Amino acid sequence: MKKLGFVMVLIVFLLAFPKSGEASSSSANIFLDGEPLNLSSGVQVANMKGNVMIPIRVVSENLGFKVGWEKASQTVTVENSEKTVRMVVGSQQAELNGAQVDLNLAPVLNGPTTLVPLRFVSEQMGLDVKWDNQSKAVYLSSAALPTTGAEIDPGEGTNSGSQTPPTVESGNKGSLTGLSFSDNRLMIATEGAVTPKVFSMTGPDRIVIDLPDTVYSASFLSGHAVNAQNGGSMEAGEYSDVTNIRYAVFSDNPPTVRIVLDLTGPKNYAVTQESGIIIVDLNAEGEILVPPVPPVTGNGKKTVVIDAGHGGSQPGAISANGNQEKVLNLNVALKVEALLRKEKNINVVMTRSDDSTLGLSDRVKVANSLKADIFVSIHGNSNNSSSPHGTETYFTRDASKPLANVMHKHLVKATELMDRGVKYSSLHVTRETTMPAVLLEIGFLSNKSDEAQLFKDDFQNRVAQGIVEGIKEYLKVQ
Ligand SMILES: [Zn+2]
Repeated sequence: MKKLGFVMVLIVFLLAFPKSGEASSSSANIFLDGEPLNLSSGVQVANMKGNVMIPIRVVSENLGFKVGWEKASQTVTVENSEKTVRMVVGSQQAELNGAQVDLNLAPVLNGPTTLVPLRFVSEQMGLDVKWDNQSKAVYLSSAALPTTGAEIDPGEGTNSGSQTPPTVESGNKGSLTGLSFSDNRLMIATEGAVTPKVFSMTGPDRIVIDLPDTVYSASFLSGHAVNAQNGGSMEAGEYSDVTNIRYAVFSDNPPTVRIVLDLTGPKNYAVTQESGIIIVDLNAEGEILVPPVPPVTGNGKKTVVIDAGHGGSQPGAISANGNQEKVLNLNVALKVEALLRKEKNINVVMTRSDDSTLGLSDRVKVANSLKADIFVSIHGNSNNSSSPHGTETYFTRDASKPLANVMHKHLVKATELMDRGVKYSSLHVTRETTMPAVLLEIGFLSNKSDEAQLFKDDFQNRVAQGIVEGIKEYLKVQ
């Protein structure tokens, strides 16, 4: 049956692309290992002077090679684990691993995309290339490709002494196999069931792509360096609105890879996912498209979002002694995070884990896009008068009241400050979140006796412990 289908495809091509002039374009006359390349819509393959020219994004999307673009020098770089090909628009001289080689035809700019000669790139990157003149089709075969990744043994080779980054283990649903950026598009190659969670954040502007239940594959690690924290970065090139591309293991339990695009300013984006390739396209205009949110995975783990209030340029309340609320909030939040990381059945996500500025809607977005189970925002209180003191817990929606009651019970016990009770208030983060959400006011920075406690390490440890006990009681996690 496969052969018959293949013949039929050939017939279609014979009909669709009769011999004609020397320059023509088509959308799918390239076959890789017998299968037609599934080119994204709008991708045009050009036939110029007998050379099939393909947009560089086809190289990364369909052939799986890493592609780089440097606008200033009009240079395209195509890489795999063994070879690097550099080509310059308009130049018939290319470089292969630093050595000069000649091209039949120079890369050309075609509107916003750069076209490169398919045969040259494919052959240099190890693909066998055959041209069928009758059907005007290119047949690529990967049989000659070196196998990548799977055989890498962390115990041997050149990586001596370095840590072993997490790679594919049984139980993980997916792996990140490749990452490339060109033509203002981030292309993420994955294997297995990977459902990205994409959202934008401000201060500074960035797009965050979380890949839950995903680890780095060995082949990803053979092409991308990771540091001791299992993170790394790659350049986007001057072409784009992206200043830096960062990747990191955002969470170990469950394993989550986070990719961050640092932007020069706010950008719209579109997300598409097709056969293992996730594309985050910054060329998108108009509406921001977000992929359908997948159902919560049934691994039994609860996702808790911890939100350290304020941060960066927003200090929050400032005490008479000059202590800043944002510092208290972050210190306690980081202590809560450390304790929750030890919990097998809890996945903790921080809205901020350093002194960055974050809008209220960004905090909400983190929790909502992750479909978190609960949201806990940590704050210190303040009043124009120095007399109010004590601990209070806020909620907005009725669904949050049971969480507020449980959290407050543990919080008051931990702070040993005056119990000011559970209160209703229409606060942005507790109102706009879609899961039970509370805002904890640990104590008053504006009150001398409260403040004397708030910035003590012991006190903060106790409060963090109380918050964790409340979370565990509410979620019924042992
Ligand atoms: Zn606050």
